[in-house]
Amino acid sequence: MIVMKFGGTSVESAEAIRRVAAIVAARVQQKPLVVVSAMGKTTNRILAAADKAAAGNLADALNSVEELKDYTRREALSAAGEASAKQVEAILSREFSSLESCMEAIAQRGELTPALWDEATSHGERISSAVVAIAFSGMGMNAAHLDAREVLITDSRHSQALPLYSRAYAKFKDAAVPLLQDQVVVMGGFIGSTQDGVTTTLGRGGSDFSAAIAGAGIEAEEIQIWTDVDGMLTCDPRVVEGGKRLRAVSFAEAAEMAYFGAKVLHPATVQPAIEKNIPVRILNSRRPEVEGTKIVGEVVCSTNPVKSIACKRGITTVNVRSLRMLMAHGFLRRIFEVFDRYKTPVDMVSTSEVSVSLTIDQTHLLDEILAELSKIAEVTVESQRAIVCLVGEAIRDTPGVAARVFAALARAGINVRMISQGASLLNISLVVDDSQVVNAVQALHAEFFAETDPEVFA
Ligand code: ADP
Ligand code: ASP
Ligand code: MG
Repeated sequence: MIVMKFGGTSVESAEAIRRVAAIVAARVQQKPLVVVSAMGKTTNRILAAADKAAAGNLADALNSVEELKDYTRREALSAAGEASAKQVEAILSREFSSLESCMEAIAQRGELTPALWDEATSHGERISSAVVAIAFSGMGMNAAHLDAREVLITDSRHSQALPLYSRAYAKFKDAAVPLLQDQVVVMGGFIGSTQDGVTTTLGRGGSDFSAAIAGAGIEAEEIQIWTDVDGMLTCDPRVVEGGKRLRAVSFAEAAEMAYFGAKVLHPATVQPAIEKNIPVRILNSRRPEVEGTKIVGEVVCSTNPVKSIACKRGITTVNVRSLRMLMAHGFLRRIFEVFDRYKTPVDMVSTSEVSVSLTIDQTHLLDEILAELSKIAEVTVESQRAIVCLVGEAIRDTPGVAARVFAALARAGINVRMISQGASLLNISLVVDDSQVVNAVQALHAEFFAETDPEVFA
């Protein structure tokens, strides 16, 4: 058994779904469990409609849902073919009227509560998985649809739920494994449900996580993450082009890259896979012949100390300066308690005798946080920053990496505003102005990847 996960762009149109069908059909011998994201930008579009409903513009919200339905219907009918049209219409009519009711509920409450956020966004994967299953059958595969909410049991932390692993694994064994013996099983990523049957989601980008949980649940031989790039690259292609493909990276490196913005993989994904020692491979659904990137349990040795450069844009730094001359004990605890109380994750920290600098990427509660911090310290804020993060397991043992980083940035005229070497010693992270991030990545890429180890880089 294998898990094959296809992201939004891989199922965005009838043509894309047909490509996916061909890829899956060529691997039926391996008994695939297929996990799909919502089609294209569906999740964003549902959220935009939900925001309108919450702001009291129900008519606008319903209009947006109607437009989403038109697009989905056109692509789904074309992918499924004439003979399955009735089935597609039935699914779309059921799911879209449920989504409309959801918009009405949001408008009535006047806010998008976390539970309604989950209920609304879940429609994307509910629809895509049902459509893809019908399309597979229409193309001659023996395919079955599995509602992820029946197997992926989670806690009730809406919009960022965590699986209840042993319960979810037991459900996968009972419900998915028997089906997989003679059918291709298709389920939606991202969504799950509590033990009481309330719909939950695993957070944005969560379909990768679903795939890993499913893989661990069925004890798959491999988890394949099919996306729109050839694999993990040495830099984010949306920031700087010309990155090289990595043939292999370690779980630890992949987790670090994902955490610092390499969107190609959801940060939590690798955890269930590591525990069961299941290899993960990233592949391109537009170029299935490319080998992709293998994510493995052991260290991947290379003559290049840096494997990839990730970046996270739109970052805010908060500088907290003790009101006394020296930091009293308990100062750091009090600062972190404030961020904790407002459930705002801190990505990077650097401290000196009298001040602490932190970075955050969620700023919706920043005013409240600043008000509280001002009671104990002097606080300043800088927005429009970016974190640039060099990842590689050999960074810890290779002298001079930091020196090369700073020399390359200095030559490019880039001012480094904050530095930290993670405790894992697997990365060096720095903060620069967001307007300089492209130059910074270019300069660092030229410095560290002018020559690459052919064993590790394609
Ligand atoms: P999917 O919809 O398949 O889940 P995502 O958009 O979540 O796809 O992730 C794929 C994208 O990740 C790529 O299109 C690419 O722009 C981005 N990305 C960021 N950093 C990297 C990297 N180092 N290597 C490859 N892709 C990256
Ligand atoms: N559809 C969800 C999102 O856009 C989950 C995913 O694609 O992984 O965040
Ligand atoms: Mg993704």
